[in-house]
Amino acid sequence: MDYYALPIADLIEQFSKLPGIGKKTAQRLALYVLEMDPLEVEKLANSIINAKEKIHYCKQCFNLTDDEFCNVCKNPNRDESTICVVEGPRDVVAMEKIREYKGLYHVLHGVISPIKDIGPDEIRIKELLDRVYNKQVKEIILALNPTVEGEATSLYIAKLLKPLGIKTTRIAHGIPVGGDLEYFDEVTLSKAMENRREL
Ligand SMILES: [Zn+2]
Repeated sequence: MDYYALPIADLIEQFSKLPGIGKKTAQRLALYVLEMDPLEVEKLANSIINAKEKIHYCKQCFNLTDDEFCNVCKNPNRDESTICVVEGPRDVVAMEKIREYKGLYHVLHGVISPIKDIGPDEIRIKELLDRVYNKQVKEIILALNPTVEGEATSLYIAKLLKPLGIKTTRIAHGIPVGGDLEYFDEVTLSKAMENRREL
């Protein structure tokens, strides 16, 4: 890195911290930014700061929003008796794309993973139970990724819900194991929802 002036080296360093960005791509992005119009660079920097400042978790479902509640929770036409549990905000987007699901969501922000030292208290499981206690919930659909951690987390949640007598279903996995919900095409995801089975 010695052959780059310090501000360039620093920019490369920052880019390379982003997911999926290797050293080579980080260099390419940094050099591209230096070629950009100063006004465009300012816009880019501002939108990063602006998004970070304005976006936070929805008070009810922990989806991302710039308001107290997210657009799904605020929509009076959504069915409040069904909650679809997902790992992250990107999964909400994947689900919304199939345009069939009319219930609400609950974003866990992770899955239980002993290897990564993530226990049940590190993700939003307690908040899910609070919702179930306080609202008229009829069905919880577990739509976690079909990974070992996703499966284990689904079973953990199902066990907690069982004594409460709430119908708990898991989406069918015609989905490849180790797959990521957001990469499933809409037909696969739609079928997975349709063929969900009770736990
Ligand atoms: Zn919400």
